[in-house]
Amino acid sequence: MKLETNFTERNELVDVRVDGAIFATGGGDLWTAWFSSPEVKAAATAEATRDGVLDAAVPNWPIEETVTDRMLLRVEASAAISFKHTETDAETVLLYGGIALGDEPGALDAEVRIAKRPDGSQAWSIRFANRSRTWALYKVAFPRLNRVTRDGEGDALLPRDDHGARLYRARRAQAEPEIVPYPAFHPMVCAFFQGDTGLYVAAEDPDARIKRLVIEGEQCIAFEAPVENAGRPGLAAEGPRFEVVLAPLKGDWWEAARRYRSFALRQKWAARGPIKDNPSYPRRLCQIPLWINIHAHPKEADAIRLRVKEAFPDFPTGIHWHLWQHSGHDENYPEYFPAQPGTAEVIARAKADDQEMLPYANGRLWTTSTGGYEVARPFATLNYDGTRRAEIYHPATPPLAAMCPCCEPWQRVVRRFTSRILDELGAGSIFLDQVGSMYAVECHDPSHNHATGGGAWWVDGYRQMLDPVRRDANSRGAFLVTEGSGEYCMDFVDGYMQLTDRTPRDVPFWKAVYTGYTSFFGSPENVIDDDDTSFRALQTRELFWGNALGWFLPEVLDCRSKCEILRQLCAFRQENLDALAYGTLLDELRPAEPIPPVQCAWHGRRPNFGLFDKGFELPPARTCEMPSVFGTWWRTDKGETVLLAANLSDEERTVRHIPCGAAPRPEGSPRLTLSLAPHELRRIPLR
Ligand SMILES: [Zn+2]
Repeated sequence: MKLETNFTERNELVDVRVDGAIFATGGGDLWTAWFSSPEVKAAATAEATRDGVLDAAVPNWPIEETVTDRMLLRVEASAAISFKHTETDAETVLLYGGIALGDEPGALDAEVRIAKRPDGSQAWSIRFANRSRTWALYKVAFPRLNRVTRDGEGDALLPRDDHGARLYRARRAQAEPEIVPYPAFHPMVCAFFQGDTGLYVAAEDPDARIKRLVIEGEQCIAFEAPVENAGRPGLAAEGPRFEVVLAPLKGDWWEAARRYRSFALRQKWAARGPIKDNPSYPRRLCQIPLWINIHAHPKEADAIRLRVKEAFPDFPTGIHWHLWQHSGHDENYPEYFPAQPGTAEVIARAKADDQEMLPYANGRLWTTSTGGYEVARPFATLNYDGTRRAEIYHPATPPLAAMCPCCEPWQRVVRRFTSRILDELGAGSIFLDQVGSMYAVECHDPSHNHATGGGAWWVDGYRQMLDPVRRDANSRGAFLVTEGSGEYCMDFVDGYMQLTDRTPRDVPFWKAVYTGYTSFFGSPENVIDDDDTSFRALQTRELFWGNALGWFLPEVLDCRSKCEILRQLCAFRQENLDALAYGTLLDELRPAEPIPPVQCAWHGRRPNFGLFDKGFELPPARTCEMPSVFGTWWRTDKGETVLLAANLSDEERTVRHIPCGAAPRPEGSPRLTLSLAPHELRRIPLR
């Protein structure tokens, strides 16, 4: 496979080619940089009259600091007066000279380096030499790749919540730009395909710096990052300080995941190694196949858990417990204590019944209406405009401040309430919301213990805060889990709860990268409105992708047929923990001929009526076809390769398929035959 990048004499990108197939066409500016000056900032700060409250309750949570955008000077690559292009076997160097900043001519130069690696990939980086005394670098968009696949002419793997990515066949041009933030529950990876020829584009960043992927139009993509000490003259970093890697691919999205895996498992967040080799990893988390999500005070919680035990007597169950604290959901963070009377007793009784009560807490927010917030306010994140950042999640609850993870007093508060959850409640687990899902905030408070704006400090702060919490929990056999799937916290949390609605385009990207190194749970779905076939198909997909099931509301207990499906799937998981909990997801079942489909209509999560939402209108279902025989290949913790397969239909099925690792569909390649009874689940070793 050959990756080529071609430029004009003005250093504009002409195209990126993989084996002759053209990706990223049309020239345009290869980079954009934004600069700030103290004078402009002072004027804009005066304009910021309210306390940075952003509405975080809507699905596309806004992450733009609109006031900040207005105070920045935007500079494009084409503003350069001179260009120099040097090409060797080892690298391409593009020099942009004599760029004016404001009324200062020739104040800025830029240097792009494209290192050509022996494996055929390229590592792209950019740095600036800024001689201005007024304007400081704030953020950079680089590289900007224009029209990576044209309207409807290629497949796109794009980063998404929880499973990590979705695959968009023949992706059309998009009317609205998409902004994918990091750190958050997305990988900074995308891939594009024309047939089986692909281009991988990823920020391979060992320091998990703050950044975002912007996707617009015909898959025009750019990695945008604030720099360290953004906008501070004399202190701002010279560039974003991470590389974006372009690599040729042959095959499908699994190849993109395998390529990212070879980077990811060498990073600090994977340093604990595979679970199978790590005696300190809390096996209890791996052994819970099903989770229920409750909002209830102790008496009701105890009644629900007894019903859960009755419905699922044969394996441990996890119960994610909201409202054990004295106040309501989102109302009094982090002032959780005192707990509701009877909390510790419920946790103890659950333990005796082999159930795991998982107390909810939040690792990122402080409710601004609490008395404590007056003291905590200096440790909340500070917007560039000088306001503290607060977020609104529901009209019925007060704004919540996003706290800065680098502030030692906030770190102490989190360590204190988490240790009280273990000590005073006797819990065997802690849930810390948002740490692995919600995006980093560019904190600009110079009195905090970090470089302001961009950088690696967000994740470093969380590591400093939570590594002792995780170690303390593990030393007691307890586990610490968070929401989402932020890879960067894998060394300081034990696993991830995944609650977002599933779609037909999902692919198990994170699972193809990280199974065997951490744990994932959650397969939330509408147990009331989904038909049994749709429910079975989705739950089987989740199970075979490596998630423990559930995060259902207690209403599932009233759905007899759904419970029966869950009992069957959970029993199968318990027999195959060597693959599904401790093994590695390798590939999907690849049929030799088309398999008859089952029709699915998924309604997504139902709102929790007991919490906020009194009215409910059933949204349109996500409809799709799934192959009636569905399966995935795993390598077990003993090194065995196994196929886990299910018949999702009501009829017996026989299919022919290609063994794992065999070349995809060349004439004469081996075929295996598999016959399954209706609804049968089976494990088949590769011999
Ligand atoms: Zn800060």
